[in-house]
Amino acid sequence: MSDDRTSALTSSAYQQALEVIASVEPRIAEATRQELVDQRGSLKLIASENYASPAVLLTMGTWFSDKYAEGTIGHRFYAGCQNVDTVESVAAEHARELFSAPYAYVQPHSGIDANLVAFWSILAHRVETPALERLGAKNVNELTEEDWEGLRHELGNQRLLGMSLDAGGHLTHGFRPNISGKMFHQQQYGTDPETGLLDYEAVAAKAREFKPLVIVAGYSAYPRRVNFAKMREIADEVGATLMVDMAHFAGLVAGKVFTGDEDPVPHAHVTTTTTHKSLRGPRGGMVLAQEEYAADVDRGCPMVLGGPLSHVMAAKAVALAEARRLEFRTYAQQIADNAQSLAAGFLSRGANLVTGGTDNHLVLLDVSSFGLTGRQAESALLDAGVVTNRNSVPRDPNGAWYTSGIRLGTPALTTRGFGHDEFDAVAELIVHVLQNTQPGTTKDGRPSRASYTLGEGVAAKVKDASAEMLDRHPLYPGLDLA
Ligand SMILES: *Cc1c(COP(=O)(O)O)cnc(C)c1O
Repeated sequence: MSDDRTSALTSSAYQQALEVIASVEPRIAEATRQELVDQRGSLKLIASENYASPAVLLTMGTWFSDKYAEGTIGHRFYAGCQNVDTVESVAAEHARELFSAPYAYVQPHSGIDANLVAFWSILAHRVETPALERLGAKNVNELTEEDWEGLRHELGNQRLLGMSLDAGGHLTHGFRPNISGKMFHQQQYGTDPETGLLDYEAVAAKAREFKPLVIVAGYSAYPRRVNFAKMREIADEVGATLMVDMAHFAGLVAGKVFTGDEDPVPHAHVTTTTTHKSLRGPRGGMVLAQEEYAADVDRGCPMVLGGPLSHVMAAKAVALAEARRLEFRTYAQQIADNAQSLAAGFLSRGANLVTGGTDNHLVLLDVSSFGLTGRQAESALLDAGVVTNRNSVPRDPNGAWYTSGIRLGTPALTTRGFGHDEFDAVAELIVHVLQNTQPGTTKDGRPSRASYTLGEGVAAKVKDASAEMLDRHPLYPGLDLA
């Protein structure tokens, strides 16, 4: 279909949808309309966000939301699931083909849910099944109370080694306040204090000493590629299961920017992801697995999950079909090229980047050289229409709330069509804001970690310069809600 025809149909679909919504709760119709205006008018650099296509968005607004379908394809606990079976089969088929994965599970409602499914399927495979065999039982219901008590303790005392939060890992990789840090006895690996890079020898040494059941690789704020072949070698040496969480960079795997040792799927026993970040689909999660783990992952519902979100699975199928097109490879490569340009733009203007650069879709800007905390930088940038999020840097002196960093990603603006020169201009605007932001002081005269003042006229100037670029690359071109 031509772009013009798609835009015209999308416009009328949303105009009519908003009219129907407004007839029930006008404030929600208005907030929906305003959200588009706001997203169109700001420089979105949040590394975990993107803009899904109208086809993906429209797929979510249907009566598939009304259907219960607990269970698996062709084996449901509810009647009348034939169309959900089609949806789930098509989504899983696209996922397997796109990532060359032996098995794909598309039910998880989010990235965290995908990780919970992965953890419990690994525990089922590595701990529960051998225990049942040892005890001569077919399933947990056949165990005596005493045997069950023993197995529960065994399941609850396994070890996990993951990347620490301040090195760029995710909360679900064993961070103690998260359930992953409570259900597992956890230890964390970090990055080299000098280079900021992953030190595989140090990870291996930790693994040898700790002997984890699970090693988690993957990240939310590490601006570099990971060698998953090496991570698998480490896992094999200590008898651990390798789980890779590619939530952030799945789009770069799908788009064949990360191949060979940098493609996690052939190396990990279990790979998890979100579908809404660089992969540019609906909000949701997914688990890919080697054949050996497939049956356990397939028990995600009822093991961890409730009824699948069939309308979202349908949208996953549409997004994955898009990601299988050749254009998606061009998009993924442009994400990486734009990150290079953004990093070079900062470095040439004297800013500091964690690890000194990037080779994925994100940069982590250390704002302490501007005399600011991440919190102050994030707020000042937002005043100027630049949407980012503050993020810890390794061994952050300002902790996880105020932080010393700003994380910036290229997937969203790349979707709008921003290229090399525009990302250089974005770096210039950000440096301009930070150079013109002064930290505030607290009531008792000490430096504040939250308050700040932004120089006169800076926000207006940056907004004007951004508006020019944003107008050149409209979000959902042709979509008119008037
Ligand atoms: C974003 C993210 C998640 C969580 O995804 P949600 O959909 O927000 O639950 C999990 N792992 C990593 C590495 C992430 O970056």
